[in-house]
Amino acid sequence: MVRENEIRQGEIAVDAPAPTDAGLVFIGTIRTPWVSRLMAPRQGRADGPICRIEIFPLWREALAGIEQFERLEVLYWLHLSRRDLVRQSPANDGSARGTFALRSPVRPNPIGTSIVTLVGVEGSILLVRGLDCLDGTPLLDLKPDRALFNPIAPPQPGDFEVG
Ligand code: SAM
Repeated sequence: MVRENEIRQGEIAVDAPAPTDAGLVFIGTIRTPWVSRLMAPRQGRADGPICRIEIFPLWREALAGIEQFERLEVLYWLHLSRRDLVRQSPANDGSARGTFALRSPVRPNPIGTSIVTLVGVEGSILLVRGLDCLDGTPLLDLKPDRALFNPIAPPQPGDFEVG
């Protein structure tokens, strides 16, 4: 699955629009032991190494209360990914699946997500386990793990109908 922007047998690239990054602002930097895509795990593991999420000073106040959550959802920008493949061959065996049927880092908007365990908070630095991204990956957002939140209202008739 590891890739360095090559095109493999069975894969299809398109002439993707020039990225504008939708006006996102990076709110921090993720520090991990992995400096190459050849080394990073495919998905984070609960028993993976402790990594550091360094929040930029501007956003420090936004961390208030975060220490009460055991698990967080981390969103990050897989900044080294190519963004133009519509079919990909993760196993590099000639078979290819659609980008939206994969969790590959290669996608039109290369957003990665991980559920991490919060190990500690040191000022504006979070210590977490469960990441899979490269050292220096830009941070997009942090949220308490959605599994900790119940729906506000019970389901209503029609809630799950597909229009
Ligand atoms: N857990 C996230 C998800 O499911 O959305 C990302 C999964 S993706 C399969 C993880 C892989 O992305 C890593 O093994 C590495 O090859 C690649 N990767 C990690 N950080 C990256 C970065 N900053 N830019 C491009 N590729 C990256």
